[in-house]
Amino acid sequence: MKAIANFDFSPQSPDIQETPCNILIVDDEERIREAYRHLLAGEGRIIEECGSGNEALRRLDHRDIDVLILDLMLPDINGLEIMEWMLHQHVPTAVVVFSGDESIDSAIRALRHGAFEFIRKHGDPQELIDTVDRVLRRRRVEREHALMTVRLEQSERLHRFLVEQSPDIIYTLDKDGAFIFVNGRVQALLGYTREELLGKHYSMIVYPDDLEHARFAFNERRIGDRASTNVEIRLQTKNQGVRHFENRTIVAILSAQGIYATNEEPASRHFMGTSGVARDITDRKKAEETIAFQAFHDLLTGLPNRILFKDRLGVALKQAKRKNKRVGVMFIDIDRFKLVNDTYGHHEGDELLKCFAQRSRSCLRSGDTLARQGGDEFTVLLPDLGDGEDASVIAAKMLAELRQPFKIAGVDFFTTVSIGIALYPDNGKTPEMLLRNADIAMYQIKGRGKNGYLHYAPEMHSGQSMRLTLEGDLRQALESGDQFELYYQPQISFSQRRTIGMEALIRWHHPRHGLMMPDTFIPLAEDTGMIVALGEWVVDRALCQLASWRSRGFTSLQLAINLSPKELERGDLPERILQRLDAYAIPAAALDIEITENLLMNDAEKNISMVKQLRNCGLRVSIDDFGTRYSSLNYLRRFPIHSIKIDQSFVRDLNPDKHSSTSIIHAIACIARSFDLRILAEGVETEAQRQMLSGLACDEMQGFLFSRPLAAEAFEGFLTGGCFPALDREQIL
Ligand code: C2E
Ligand code: CA
Ligand code: CA
Repeated sequence: MKAIANFDFSPQSPDIQETPCNILIVDDEERIREAYRHLLAGEGRIIEECGSGNEALRRLDHRDIDVLILDLMLPDINGLEIMEWMLHQHVPTAVVVFSGDESIDSAIRALRHGAFEFIRKHGDPQELIDTVDRVLRRRRVEREHALMTVRLEQSERLHRFLVEQSPDIIYTLDKDGAFIFVNGRVQALLGYTREELLGKHYSMIVYPDDLEHARFAFNERRIGDRASTNVEIRLQTKNQGVRHFENRTIVAILSAQGIYATNEEPASRHFMGTSGVARDITDRKKAEETIAFQAFHDLLTGLPNRILFKDRLGVALKQAKRKNKRVGVMFIDIDRFKLVNDTYGHHEGDELLKCFAQRSRSCLRSGDTLARQGGDEFTVLLPDLGDGEDASVIAAKMLAELRQPFKIAGVDFFTTVSIGIALYPDNGKTPEMLLRNADIAMYQIKGRGKNGYLHYAPEMHSGQSMRLTLEGDLRQALESGDQFELYYQPQISFSQRRTIGMEALIRWHHPRHGLMMPDTFIPLAEDTGMIVALGEWVVDRALCQLASWRSRGFTSLQLAINLSPKELERGDLPERILQRLDAYAIPAAALDIEITENLLMNDAEKNISMVKQLRNCGLRVSIDDFGTRYSSLNYLRRFPIHSIKIDQSFVRDLNPDKHSSTSIIHAIACIARSFDLRILAEGVETEAQRQMLSGLACDEMQGFLFSRPLAAEAFEGFLTGGCFPALDREQIL
């Protein structure tokens, strides 16, 4: 918006009332000058004198004299010559001629030379006073008028500038819907020049399928709150055969209102047309679609992902219950898949997964669902089964089909699979139960030498008792508190080469099992409600550590902690956190709460209000693992979050040859920008990933490339000795 600096729209133009008026008296007789100066003196008037014509010319040349009181008879130059010179030079001064020569002739000549008034020298002094008053009044009106004109011009220039520079199409239609104005933006977005559109009906730029929908917005007669806002329609570009315009439609969001003649009474106002603004949201739309698709699908195979699978399974179970039918769930794992990856590389591994997906799909009925759970694990949903044998038939068919080799890197590759089967209602009544039991059956068949299928049986279940022991251990660990430790992983800004903060990650030093990672005990803590006590320990420990670092000069570090959705269910969470912050004298803005996307989906209203409360306390809130669940963008709109963390899985897939992951990160960056959110990429392991992220304008990162999570002491070493120091420490030293 630099160009705006050219516009003078500040209220600095001096107010007319306050500008003093300059009066110049020109007469060779000092006595007369003196007398007139007395007569004309007044507030806001500056009176000057000249005794000769030449002197007067020099003074007038400054062009700041409002009124000139001019004697025609001067010793050097004749007063009329002065006036001629003024006309010639366009000096904008009003002239009052006064003269001892009372002949009508000189009066006429003076007036012809542009004098405002002719006054006789020995007449009534009041006449001079009145005349000067009159001149000054007129000058003031003239000046006001000039100033107004300048202001109007400036304001019009400013508006024209804003309209032309606008990223949106701004237009006006007449009452029949033809363009009477459209800004230059239309050419960049749709390829039409302004001239091509003026006089044409708006339907020329509307995508035919959207015409009906567009009619209301383009024919908008209402104004104010009732007028159309945010109507989404597709506009079509002009077909120019130019590559840029190959994509023939853009998605625009349109706001319009009616225009009425302003000089009439409201009741009888005359409708003149419609004006509106259309914003191009094509990129955002595409990003939304990509995100929505990938939220429910596996990008590699195009199959439904585990979320969509679970959803369909839930629906199938409800129907089966009503119809008294069986539902089959299969868990499939490709045997020796790791071998393909290790021998031929990831690219070939991906190819195998794609071919496998295609072939397995062909063995199923149209109502069945094949989904990818992740890695080399797939699941199948078989609704409407008569009995368990139907599932066996399908499993056998799959095994037979897979006997044909796959072509991998030009050679035949034989693969087999292990399939576990669980049936509703026999082996479980909930989606979770059925998946778990099919998984257990699959592991049994793997244990028995792979390549086959097996139905779940209750004897397979032995994990339960181990879980109970671990639960007891966790309870005890929480009581003693000394088995947990927080590790800290640096979060860096690559462009600044600086550590901006860290994420606290919990570890459990189990007395028998040794070091345990959070994935092995957090779900258990969540299931049993112990997560609340664990979370309290984390908040307290992490803030205590932060306080210690802050006292040693690292005052700009941002501490991120993970909160599980269970912890957010507690209404007093903000209070508890604030109380801890207070105790350690840490400003709320130094704490970043990481929550997962699921939270945005479940019980949204309650969670929105919780997130709002946290934000109102001054805390930052980030969405963790962004992109792995379906965060409806509407939720993003409503949650006042501060930043999003791009999930590791997208970063891991970053590869110059693979488009999908790049485009997802691009989409996420796009969305983040449009919601004004910060982004941070997680799980950055290689320089190549780092470079691609920097190229996608994602500057804040976290991952093994910079550092693994470190114990407190080692983390401090990183802050002072690593290649990404925390700056303020240096400033202090
Ligand atoms: P998260 O919040 O997504 O944390 C990041 C995880 O990624 C950490 O695993 C970290 O060690 C790992 N990581 C970081 N950089 C890289 C990388 O470059 N490559 C790879 N492969 N991994 C990387 P960690 O410490 O095992 O934590 C796992 C999860 O456990 C966390 O995932 C978080 O959801 C949960 N968690 C950890 N600490 C806490 C806690 O205090 N409270 C709660 N509620 N959950 C926690
Ligand atoms: Ca996290
Ligand atoms: Ca994460």
